Amino acid sequence: MVVSAPSGAGKTSICRGILRQFPNIRFSVSCTTRPPRLGEVNGKDYDFISAGEFRERIARGEFVEWVENYGQFYGTPKKTMNAFLNQGYDLILDIEPRGAKAIREHDPRGVFIFILPPSLSELKSRMSLRGESAAVMERRLQSSLDEIREALWYDYIIFNEKLEEAVDQFRSVYIAEKSRRDLFTERIEAFFKDELCLTASDKVPQARRANPEE
Ligand code: 5GP
Repeated sequence: MVVSAPSGAGKTSICRGILRQFPNIRFSVSCTTRPPRLGEVNGKDYDFISAGEFRERIARGEFVEWVENYGQFYGTPKKTMNAFLNQGYDLILDIEPRGAKAIREHDPRGVFIFILPPSLSELKSRMSLRGESAAVMERRLQSSLDEIREALWYDYIIFNEKLEEAVDQFRSVYIAEKSRRDLFTERIEAFFKDELCLTASDKVPQARRANPEE
């Protein structure tokens, strides 16, 4: 699940709520060159690395996607992502829309979720709580509006009015996505095979979300 949101929409709290509820979902820890904020833990929130190391890792092709944002690099390491997926975990990727688009082009298994604040005025007032200068706020607001425009191509939108309800909505998206018919192709075919009655017309259509690397 690829999750994007403008800052102040409450994405981190929603993702935490989901990760607490579902042990089968893991968080894809990105690499970044930006310095850690207070309370952020290396290896848990991000892998904080130097710009030099980041560039070397780009050159070695170690990222599924990466972007430069306000002079800092952010990237999703292939190794972590594939390790979790191969072990059967589902993943949350907290990334911005350019990275999300790259994932969409690279891997048909992604489910794209955009989290929005209830309204623009609510977003502004959440931003002002951060105590930043008017100029910084204006810049952030503009970049939020640019991001929000991207919401239009995502699969799901969650308006975060009340945290609990937003987590519930995310949870519903996850459960619905896990119930897609195409995820059960082999299991359904096994029913028929066990009964020795598989006919050509019983053939279940191929998975829509087949892993391109398999
Ligand atoms: P922050 O510095 O506030 O933690 O993150 C800034 C933005 O970078 C957020 O929108 C976050 O979702 C995004 N981001 C974090 N990790 C990645 C990543 O690996 N790839 C991309 N494309 N964006 C990321």
